[in-house]
Amino acid sequence: MRRRAASVVGARLGVLVSSAEQQAGLATTSSGGLFGTAGRLPGAGARVGGAGQARAAAAVPAATAAVKVQPSLLPLTRTDEFGAVSILESEAEASFVPQTFENVDGRRIEDGRYAAFTKDLTEVAGVPATRQFTDKVRTFAYGTDASFYRLNPKMVVKIHSEEEVRKILPLALKHQVPVTFRAAGTSLSGQALTDSVLLKLSHTGRNFRSYTVHGDGSTITVEPGLIGGEVNRILAAHKSKGKHPVQYKIGPDPSSIDSCMVGGIVSNNSSGMCCGVSQNTYHTLKDMRIVFVDGSVLDTADPASRAAFLQSHSKLVEGVVALAKRVQADRQLANLIRRKFAIKCTTGYSLNALVDFHTDDPIEMIKRLMVGSEGTLGFVSQVTYNTVPEWPHKASAFVVFPDVMSACQGASVLRDQTSVDAVEMFDRASLRECESNEDMLRLVPDIKGADPMAASLLIECRGSTEEDLAARIEEIHAALRKSGLPFGAKAAEPQPLEAYEFKHDPRDFKVFWDVRRGLIPIVGAARKPGTSMLLEDVACPVDKLGQMTVDLMDMFQRHGYDDAFLFGHALEGNLHLVFSQGFRTPEELTRFHTMFDELCHIVATKHSGSLKGEHGTGRNVAPYVEMEWGTKATELMWELKELFDPDYILNPGVILNKDPLVHVKNLKPSPAANPLVNRCIECGFCESNCPSRDITLTPRQRIAVYKELFRMRSIENRTAAQQQRLDEMAQIFEYDGQDTCAADGMCQEKCPVKINTGELIKQLRSDEMAEARRASGLAMTVANNFSTTAWAFNKLLNVVNVAHSVLGATPIKAISSALNKATGHMVPEWNPYMPKGAAPLNMNPPKPAAAERGVPRKVVYVPACVTRIMGPSKGDYETAPVHEKLLSLFNKAGYEVVYPEGLSASCCGMMFNSRGFKDAAAKKGSELEAALLKASENGKWPVVCDTSPCLAQIKSGLSDPALRFSLYEPVEFIRHFLLDKLEFSKVRDNIAVHIPCSSKKMGIEETFMKVASMCAENVVNTNVPCCGMAGDRGMRYPELTGASLQHLNVGGCSDGYSTSRTCEMSLSNHSGINFRGLVYLVDEATQPKAAAAAEKQA
Ligand SMILES: Cc1cc2nc3c(=O)[nH]c(=O)nc-3n(C[C@H](O)[C@H](O)[C@H](O)COP(=O)(O)OP(=O)(O)OC[C@H]3O[C@@H](n4cnc5c(N)ncnc54)[C@H](O)[C@@H]3O)c2cc1C
Ligand code: SF4
Ligand code: SF4
Repeated sequence: MRRRAASVVGARLGVLVSSAEQQAGLATTSSGGLFGTAGRLPGAGARVGGAGQARAAAAVPAATAAVKVQPSLLPLTRTDEFGAVSILESEAEASFVPQTFENVDGRRIEDGRYAAFTKDLTEVAGVPATRQFTDKVRTFAYGTDASFYRLNPKMVVKIHSEEEVRKILPLALKHQVPVTFRAAGTSLSGQALTDSVLLKLSHTGRNFRSYTVHGDGSTITVEPGLIGGEVNRILAAHKSKGKHPVQYKIGPDPSSIDSCMVGGIVSNNSSGMCCGVSQNTYHTLKDMRIVFVDGSVLDTADPASRAAFLQSHSKLVEGVVALAKRVQADRQLANLIRRKFAIKCTTGYSLNALVDFHTDDPIEMIKRLMVGSEGTLGFVSQVTYNTVPEWPHKASAFVVFPDVMSACQGASVLRDQTSVDAVEMFDRASLRECESNEDMLRLVPDIKGADPMAASLLIECRGSTEEDLAARIEEIHAALRKSGLPFGAKAAEPQPLEAYEFKHDPRDFKVFWDVRRGLIPIVGAARKPGTSMLLEDVACPVDKLGQMTVDLMDMFQRHGYDDAFLFGHALEGNLHLVFSQGFRTPEELTRFHTMFDELCHIVATKHSGSLKGEHGTGRNVAPYVEMEWGTKATELMWELKELFDPDYILNPGVILNKDPLVHVKNLKPSPAANPLVNRCIECGFCESNCPSRDITLTPRQRIAVYKELFRMRSIENRTAAQQQRLDEMAQIFEYDGQDTCAADGMCQEKCPVKINTGELIKQLRSDEMAEARRASGLAMTVANNFSTTAWAFNKLLNVVNVAHSVLGATPIKAISSALNKATGHMVPEWNPYMPKGAAPLNMNPPKPAAAERGVPRKVVYVPACVTRIMGPSKGDYETAPVHEKLLSLFNKAGYEVVYPEGLSASCCGMMFNSRGFKDAAAKKGSELEAALLKASENGKWPVVCDTSPCLAQIKSGLSDPALRFSLYEPVEFIRHFLLDKLEFSKVRDNIAVHIPCSSKKMGIEETFMKVASMCAENVVNTNVPCCGMAGDRGMRYPELTGASLQHLNVGGCSDGYSTSRTCEMSLSNHSGINFRGLVYLVDEATQPKAAAAAEKQA
């Protein structure tokens, strides 16, 4: 389907290419073109380019056949032990085996320096062995980033503080061991990778996560481990707490902002849809703390530190000043730098620092040079941002044009003549996705059947007041009307501009922006198994954007990239190119290399653009820095690097690299290992939601290791070394990958392609259990005798509770901990908040008056096995079980309670499912479903389960649709059925709430907060995505909940509420306050409406 569309586009594209050429005054040359065929690699389209060649390239008539690679022109390649593929320069390189250490990727062999560094790391820097990782799983997993490159670090060190970095860098210098810093690893250009030592500041507990908001929020000081989105949430909370008039946010707004960290945002000079150039880190930076390679620190906010630095580092300072003087005296070079940074540019260093400041202000220059330096000049340990206002009034319009040139001209008009906030361009391929979206069709009906080269602009406008917003919208309308550009998705059916009105309702403009955000995942999800999704990021002066877009579309077509999407921040001339690419065969490698070389010529030479607008140079365009910047500026960059890091210790090979083929080396394989995870694009967006991120692996890392295991298992005739690596990885993965996965699926919530890594892990557990027949048989016996099991557990809890009272906490903890270890985590570890056995369920609850009066109010109540077994903990003032509280609520609201048949033996099946006992889980699930169908008279009555995760499990396993709309967990039931029947009053000042991950996945976070707020003045959300309890897993692997709940925030409250008894136990254990079911609070805070009214009258 897409191929057919591509050929239609091809015909239209031919017209546009030549019209673009005519506009540019370029001659059209013969077919075939300079890049029309692949050459023997390396050397295909060698980067000596020149404007003439590039022009010729772009003049190639469109719809020429995709590049066919001749077998005789295939490159030499090599695959390393990690599966990474490289294109090689020569036979000599192919057979080269390094004998001595060279500071080049693949040649950093251990000649004793790593051992010496490790020794000093422990003895001098004091980094404990528990934070040094050299095993085959952790190095591989932690080494993975979002780029399509693979380098495997020799060692990963989880760093904890600036102080530690100050000790480590001099050791690296002493032993000549290169180091690379790692924040969230969402970089796309290969700058966060190394085959040497990776210093990881992310997922190291609460380290590097401090902040201070200043005044009204117009400045904020942050550490590099905070996620960008978190910083904005901190600013939002600061505004609402201090009742400040203006909402501020940080300027940089990469689309990865909810995953990437300050360290990466600063070091890549990231930006996004609204920030443009003027609000990126370079322009909104106030101050910075920098650790240099010798371990010294400069705090630019501290006059004493500045003065000391000027003295102690006079050589560096004088060097920077000399370079600045040279640049400022060279008008041509200075103008080039100004021109390049007028648009988005992250290729090379931030040379604008050398022209934007007076030469007597070297600190200001050094501070700005750090921005976008990708960890090659120093470590950023703290940043102070001048924040920018987040105006409250917004509106967006989706304006369609019959061709992409007109759309880009529209962007240029808006940039030159208005103060518009964001303009995003969609090409025809992107529009095709809109055509299949019902909400989009409702809002922009004429996109259906748009012309083959149609394009659109998504325009956003913001204002401090409604009037301000209206004035800005009018300004945009006036400019577009005056432009004389055609509007409408079809040239033959022109539309007035008014057809694309600004939408003020957030529900409407959310549709536009959701489609925009969904464009990257679409390619990611639709690509063929075994290929990777590539995301290129180019920019050019906005008046050339149309031409560049057409040239790139033509290029993709000729090279057979039929799935390429082009879209991006048109206001800044910034275009994202998303397409799939395999690195499995020499043909695929050649196609990529040839296309990429042409891409660089089109962007850098023909359109004087940036090869990287936002994503950073990395290894990806390092060989093309000179093509983009010219020799003089590139030499300046090398000089800069030598001033800051003369020994090439800091992330060598990134930004500047002498290897002309570094961009086609160490390419990451993407084996099609399992349909559950093949779509993974390794973006890392899921990582911050994962409860095991601080102790073992994240979802991305689980998938990466799983795929690597698959790749190695697929190798026929493995060598002894390969077998040994496979065995070691498989063994470590059991604990790191499988045992410590909570299988809660919270990763899916942040995954752009909706992967639930927990499903993969459950499948692995299930496969294992299928082999372990005895265990499966035992599980089935437990399932068949569940009422006895539940009764026994209830009694056991009381026995343990008595033991706690008699013996005290210490011996019980010691005994249970020993048992836990001895049984391979089968016996749960005891904690002081372990519940007592729950009092028995009242099987004959009183018939409420309302029911007796004949009002048909019935509810089917299924107390989860966990609430039938577990009561409150020993130290809680509450002694009643959850079911007693819920029965009280039903009674107050006049509900007659119906229990499902066979309640004492019922279970949703989760405890079996999470362990991989699929058959037992299915059996219990279907038994319960049948009982609920009967009790609810096929869904006539609402069904309430008092434990959110169990309700989610029941919902996910339904086979009969009759119950689909009748199932409620407590909070949803309260919202739908009790608000009109009960009078609420606020009975607490401050409470903490933890919303279980299952509730978050069901989308009831807001409802949870609303119900809690009806019972208390101030409600603090713990903000922990998942506590890691996962049924009883957190009791059997207490380190999992320990790691997750170190981020728990109870804001000084003395009571906490949730809707899962096991999670509550764990939350209590890690906060020191009692967490209990929200129904306890609601029961205390409510009375029947009638009674309340009578009370008021009296
Ligand atoms: C799907 C997707 C969409 C994206 N969209 C955008 C976008 O819209 N705009 C955009 O600009 N980018 C985008 N990116 C790229 C990436 O998310 C950003 O560049 C991000 O800011 C990187 O941050 P990080 O925390 O992941 O850094 P990392 O990848 O961990 O590191 C980035 C670089 O900074 C260095 N570094 C990290 N911490 C420090 C420190 N404390 N001191 C010195 N050096 C350090 C590293 O060595 C590395 O060179 C996207 C990525 C993905 C996967
Ligand atoms: S699982 Fe999803 S979010 Fe995680 S790395 Fe893969 S694609 Fe990204
Ligand atoms: S299921 Fe949960 S624990 Fe497992 S990878 Fe996903 S978020 Fe992490």
